[in-house]
Amino acid sequence: MKCNPEYSSKEALLSLYQKPLLELVFEAATIHRKYHNSREVQMSSLLSIKTGGCPEDCGYCPQAARYHTDVDAHKLMNVDEVLNQAKNAKANGSSRLCMGAAWREIRDNKDFDKVVEMVQGVNEMGMEVCCTLGMMSEGQAKRLKNAGLFAYNHNLDSSKEFYSDVISTREYEQRLDTIDNARKAGISVCSGGIIGMGETEEDRVGLLMSYMEMENPPESIPINALVAVEGTPLEDQKPIEQWELIRMVATTRIAFPESIVRLSAGRTKMSMEAQAMCFLGGAGSIFAGDKLLTTPNPEFNEDKEMFKILGLVAKESFADGEQPVTNPDPILLEKKRLAKQRELELEAAKSKVQDDTFEPRKVRTVDSL
Ligand code: SF4
Repeated sequence: MKCNPEYSSKEALLSLYQKPLLELVFEAATIHRKYHNSREVQMSSLLSIKTGGCPEDCGYCPQAARYHTDVDAHKLMNVDEVLNQAKNAKANGSSRLCMGAAWREIRDNKDFDKVVEMVQGVNEMGMEVCCTLGMMSEGQAKRLKNAGLFAYNHNLDSSKEFYSDVISTREYEQRLDTIDNARKAGISVCSGGIIGMGETEEDRVGLLMSYMEMENPPESIPINALVAVEGTPLEDQKPIEQWELIRMVATTRIAFPESIVRLSAGRTKMSMEAQAMCFLGGAGSIFAGDKLLTTPNPEFNEDKEMFKILGLVAKESFADGEQPVTNPDPILLEKKRLAKQRELELEAAKSKVQDDTFEPRKVRTVDSL
């Protein structure tokens, strides 16, 4: 993945962002057509596999335990339930499933084992699997890669300068480390941000500069508009204008010509015309389905209708990279072997107890007469 060297300084990127809108969209559309099939848009589904109760304090997030929101918290879903939802999303045209868990970081426990099984199952279904599970070590990344993970999402959210206005429980550097760990494991990186949190235009460009400074910018850059949820510190934030989202999508497209720019949260507030401008200006993916983790999103059918009107087609999975191989997971195999061994030992112990309590029929011997 390469970035556009013409815009590698903050000044150049800011003047690009501030260009007259139609010129900006035209430039983005030209680049988009050069690097991508402009009629194809990927439909992805986002599934919250573990909701709420998160110890972090991201100011926009209704899943943070410290905020009083209406989120329906639930523990980690079971593997079969997730596979059924994936099947359903695939039948509705989604070629990628992003599974999100409201965790600060991945822990090496039974829940992570379950996620590994989910990744294996969804990849074997022929869908691109992306996970967003919080901070991740290199070892955990390797385990997910081995299970067949295609991409890992970890957003930088905003510029380094503005970040601490929104989040205090996790450093920007820690986010960069997780992205690095995904890279080292050979996992495709999905990382983007949110606009409308009270940041300046310089901060929006600053987010993109963080990706410019990477040796390998993300293959996938989701651009979200804040969905201000009651009970969160950003609940009173004024909604952004649709034009701002179009501008951000187009700037991202030009700055990172090879990446997929994903039009993510905030679509419910956009008209079809505004979404069409985003597709023209380089958005190559939307999230489909009525929920985006916990916030509302247009229904599958509305999106299908929009695709029909705009002449868009849903992109197939693995159009931008080979399907990873799902290998057996050594930890799961060992756990299954130990469980089997315990089962056998238990059975042996049970039959021993039966043997010990077995009282043979008393036989009268000569002595007992
Ligand atoms: S965005 Fe993620 S890490 Fe931050 S509070 Fe929400 S669930 Fe937790």
